[in-house]
Amino acid sequence: MEIFQKVKDVKVYVARLKAAQKKIGFVPTMGALHDGHTSLIHESIRNNDITICSIFINPIQFNNKEDLAKYPKLIKDDIAKLNETECDCLFNPDGNEIYPKPIKTEYDFGHLDKVMEGKYRKGHFNGVAVVVKRLFDIIEPDNSYFGEKDYQQLMIIKHLVKDQELDVNIIPCPIVREVNGLAMSSRNSRLDPLEKVVAPALYAVLKKAKERAGDLTVKELKSFVTKQLGNFKIIRVEYFDIVDMNTLEPVHDWSESKEVIACIAAYVGNIRLIDNIILFS
Ligand code: AMP
Repeated sequence: MEIFQKVKDVKVYVARLKAAQKKIGFVPTMGALHDGHTSLIHESIRNNDITICSIFINPIQFNNKEDLAKYPKLIKDDIAKLNETECDCLFNPDGNEIYPKPIKTEYDFGHLDKVMEGKYRKGHFNGVAVVVKRLFDIIEPDNSYFGEKDYQQLMIIKHLVKDQELDVNIIPCPIVREVNGLAMSSRNSRLDPLEKVVAPALYAVLKKAKERAGDLTVKELKSFVTKQLGNFKIIRVEYFDIVDMNTLEPVHDWSESKEVIACIAAYVGNIRLIDNIILFS
């Protein structure tokens, strides 16, 4: 696997691939790779000539300095994991490479960043969009792979691509979970033993919510979830929202939308986790 830290070096590599008319698949990540990330890489390998993965912990998407400081950094393990896949290239730049100049871009996502993560993490999605746009400009991928675990992020990226007329296909990939149902996340490694036992309750309750969605009203379903998770002392729900899958507009009545997703953010101890489940599609 080729490894580049410098923008100019990866650009030379990409130019060579483009000249040879190779189809490039791209998987942007922040590292601490797990099977969720590698599922994206495998999907890219299946559908492209060359797969490039990036690892860059993007400071401007963290609204919480402590979260940034504590974000796991495991580059040696990550390289070993990537070497176990057929990933062709790792781009692992530092901050000066990605942001040589001050960042002034302010994107308008309309309603998409006013709810859920956008509401609780000010500036987060602008930071995500800035780094993804910069990475797309460098890598010029044909296809880029994003997990449905970060469902709102996926919608933001699709919006960015349309709005900026970027020439890349965004490919959504299903959520990969632990055997106990917990959605894989780089943050899971920060859960203590008790939190690890409790955290799978998030998905267990989402699954129950899906089963009950037909019988209960939206309001009843929301209070069902809040009550169920309220039984766990160390879980604090930040939001549990039921929204249209395309617009992320809140759904108040099941008749308002045919494609409905329930999204949750909750603290398990001090660790903030997100997850979601499609209720109707
Ligand atoms: P991150 O390193 O957290 O920025 O994630 C990089 C990419 O991996 C994003 O597109 C995420 O949505 C995706 N991803 C993270 N966790 C999972 C998971 N459990 N299943 C599927 N995709 C995931």
